[in-house]
This record gives sequence, C-alpha cells and structure tokens, in this order.
Amino acid sequence: MLKVTGIAKGIVIDHITAGKGLKIFQKLNLDKLPSPVVLLMNVSSERLGKKDIIKVQDHIDIDLAILGLIDQNITVNIIENEGIKEKIAVSIPQRVKGLFQCKNPRCITCEDQYAEAEFTLVPNGKIQYRCSYCEELTEYKL
Ligand SMILES: [Zn+2]
Repeated sequence: MLKVTGIAKGIVIDHITAGKGLKIFQKLNLDKLPSPVVLLMNVSSERLGKKDIIKVQDHIDIDLAILGLIDQNITVNIIENEGIKEKIAVSIPQRVKGLFQCKNPRCITCEDQYAEAEFTLVPNGKIQYRCSYCEELTEYKL
C-alpha cells in the first residue's frame, strides 16, 4: 500500500471516482498552484473499490460547483492542525455560470463574449441545464 504523508493544513478531495482525478486536477487548475499538490490514482477504497484522491497543502478556494458536475461521490475535507475541521459533500449545482457554453449556436452568449450564459438545472434525472437567454437545454459533458 502506497503511503502518503498526511497534511497538517490544507484540502483533501476524497472519494473521486477512479479515473476522474486528472480531469478534476485540470479543471481546478491545480497545476498553476504554488502550493504542494498530490494526485493519487487508483487507491483502494472500501466504498468505491478504487478511487482517486487530491491533496493540496494549503487552504485554497475550490469551486464546489465544478466538483459536483464532474463527480457527485466527492467529499472535500478541510484539514486544520492535522485533523478534519470540515467535511463537505458535493452535489450537482442548481445554477451554474461560466462553466460551459450553451449548445445553441445562435444563442447570444455564443456570439457576444460579454453575455455570459446562466444555466438552471432541469430536474429530469440527467445533468441538463436550461440557458437563461435562449431556453435551450445543454447537457454537461466532461
Ligand atoms: Zn443559450
């Protein structure tokens, strides 16, 4: 079993479905961080069989909406003084802005760079969002 030193202070993004860790790493721009960051892939997990984990040795703002869109299994642990100070379970965001584009090519948000589409989740079991400008449904894809 691979041992990784625990962190005294920072953020652990845990229970990432195996294979999605790298995507999350990129979406959160963690490669641009000045702090130490590790991405662990295919770690054994009782709950998931295998999972990915990301550890950041610093307190940074994490976009929980992006995490919720990519993977609803995720738990974010805020680490302080070597212990878990807070556990956050992510969920699919009800409203999102600026994370993806409207799929309607005639939508004003695709033509005008200053108009930013705002999307509202459509409760139909899929991850589909309705554009606030043109009402078109856009499905979020990784
Ligand atoms: Zn639109």
